[in-house]
Amino acid sequence: MQKSIELVKTDITTLDIDAIVNAANQSLLGGGGVDGAIHRAAGPDLLAECKKIGGCPTGEAKITKGYNLKAKYIIHTVGPIWKSGTENETVLLRKAYTNSLSIANEHRIKTIAFPNISTGVYGFPKQLAAEIAIKITRAFIEKNKYPQKVIFVCFDEENYNIYNAILKNN
Ligand code: ADP
Repeated sequence: MQKSIELVKTDITTLDIDAIVNAANQSLLGGGGVDGAIHRAAGPDLLAECKKIGGCPTGEAKITKGYNLKAKYIIHTVGPIWKSGTENETVLLRKAYTNSLSIANEHRIKTIAFPNISTGVYGFPKQLAAEIAIKITRAFIEKNKYPQKVIFVCFDEENYNIYNAILKNN
């Protein structure tokens, strides 16, 4: 099957696909931003499953069911908090994308959507985060059978324009 990358501007919780990625925090017990939206939409059974997992280190990823979402799975990953740029932030963001994609590959997930990890409250520079997300994803889908379709979900205009420019230009 032909691999593809798509860009949409929407609420990630509304997507009817195999898996969505959550930009979670280390506790996996919910939070603000996209994490809060996903927990609200998935319902309380998600929190119960997350409690059993017992947390997730930065850069790692864990999978749960999607519960009330249309998506069958949620892959929870923890992006880095941007500090000075010299504290491994870029390495950790790369790991968050790679580990999420690896879990998708293991579970034979065909279609997956990513939010713009770390670019909200965690303060990662949006341009740099988008370059990392696209570069890692392109390389991963070329080498692996799954996922076959990756959707980058931008919630704000600034991120949408950044992704659009990168995806168009190369
Ligand atoms: P982080 O703590 O990783 O920065 P945030 O949730 O604060 O996580 O922000 C990550 C990105 O998710 C931001 O670009 C934000 O605009 C976006 N976002 C917030 N709510 C949603 C949503 N419902 N669907 C998709 N993206 C969202």
